[in-house]
Amino acid sequence: MAAMTDTKHATGVLASERPPEAAGHGWDPAAIRAQFPILSREVNGHPLVYLDNAASSQQPLRVLNRVERYLREEHANVHRGVHRLSAEATEAYEGARRSVAAHAGTRDPAEIVFTRGATEAVNLVASSWGDASIGTGDEIVLTKMEHHSNLVPWQLLAGRTGCKLRFVDVTPEGTLDLDDYDRLLGRRSRLVACTHVSNSLGTVNPVREIVDRAHAAGALTLIDGAQAAPHMLTDVAKIGCDFYAFSSHKMCGPTGVGALWARRELLEEMPPYQGGGEMISEVKLEGSSWAKIPHKFEAGTPNISGVVGFGEAARFLADLGSEAIASHEGALKRAVLGRLREIQGLHLYGPREERGRTAVFSFAYGDVHPHDLSTILDQRGIAIRAGHHCNQPLMDHYGISSTARASFYFYNSPGEIDVLCDGLAMAAEVFGGVA
Ligand code: PLP
Repeated sequence: MAAMTDTKHATGVLASERPPEAAGHGWDPAAIRAQFPILSREVNGHPLVYLDNAASSQQPLRVLNRVERYLREEHANVHRGVHRLSAEATEAYEGARRSVAAHAGTRDPAEIVFTRGATEAVNLVASSWGDASIGTGDEIVLTKMEHHSNLVPWQLLAGRTGCKLRFVDVTPEGTLDLDDYDRLLGRRSRLVACTHVSNSLGTVNPVREIVDRAHAAGALTLIDGAQAAPHMLTDVAKIGCDFYAFSSHKMCGPTGVGALWARRELLEEMPPYQGGGEMISEVKLEGSSWAKIPHKFEAGTPNISGVVGFGEAARFLADLGSEAIASHEGALKRAVLGRLREIQGLHLYGPREERGRTAVFSFAYGDVHPHDLSTILDQRGIAIRAGHHCNQPLMDHYGISSTARASFYFYNSPGEIDVLCDGLAMAAEVFGGVA
């Protein structure tokens, strides 16, 4: 993905917004779907329509088979052994690091630290960089649309250090208020931590602009890429940020594994996040020295099979091609927007136009409670999400406690949009009309 040359694209404009001829060739929706065994199961007597991809995506056979092969044939502990299996496991683990690095757009695999997910990646930065660099009176700029994963770690840091958290406002259209951002940035700003794509609204934030303004104010930047890395080119060099966090399970890989990308110089300067085996160079009773990056940040036996699956998922997405993925998702997004706009009583949160959003749709449906709606749709085999989506401050901003959320991925089909809309019509009947 690093090979892409379109700066705008890397900074948050989707490939689907390019002319159609730029999209990938040879995209065969049925063949792609067939690679995901779970998509052919039934739920409550209906074919599964899986629209909860923003929470967790499904895994293709390629990833399932790779993890199984690792467990059946290559499993051993990594890095320490000199025997054959340990060498093979280490190669599988470090090979995954190279694939994930390529996905993030870095040529330097040592800049990729494996974590339990985007959540742990943010916690790592807040604990290691934050504890070492932040003091009373310093400010960290966040936004009101952050996932709790990119909020609570900073609240904990504020509790430990006395730093202040400032929050960029969200406009009624569900975009960031960049004038407010400019007002909040100042000489006390030490870090701007912002989501690349909102997991509730689907808003694609202008991360390059956000990063440039932060750097001009002398602040570092962390981008939460959990909802971007699965869908669009991720090129950390072009985004220009200092830290980028993302998760495997949102991009066709296993759960419980993710990555932090950080600039080499930062990782080299930062103190370890956790202590234990694997992260040391030498240990004496009086004290220890640290392994080189990235191992300095990977204490203990890692989630080896998860990392191997993550690497295979990154290669799978690379083989599909990010332009083809974004193109297909762009077509779905257009179609869903068109249909949802026609549904009476449905109020969509977030950008109402295609541009600057992904195929994540949060909505209210009259006064039907999102949990009731989700339960009714589940009876038709349709999986959507209902709740606050780990975005409680954003829900407060809109004066609501929850939304219904349908989130699409490249393996979803236009036919599934019809099923969703039929399901919504059926729900309206059950509730005696939706106004
Ligand atoms: N950030 C965003 C925007 C997310 O959507 C999520 C997951 O929903 C996370 C962070 C946390 O990811 P994980 O639970 O994989 O650590």
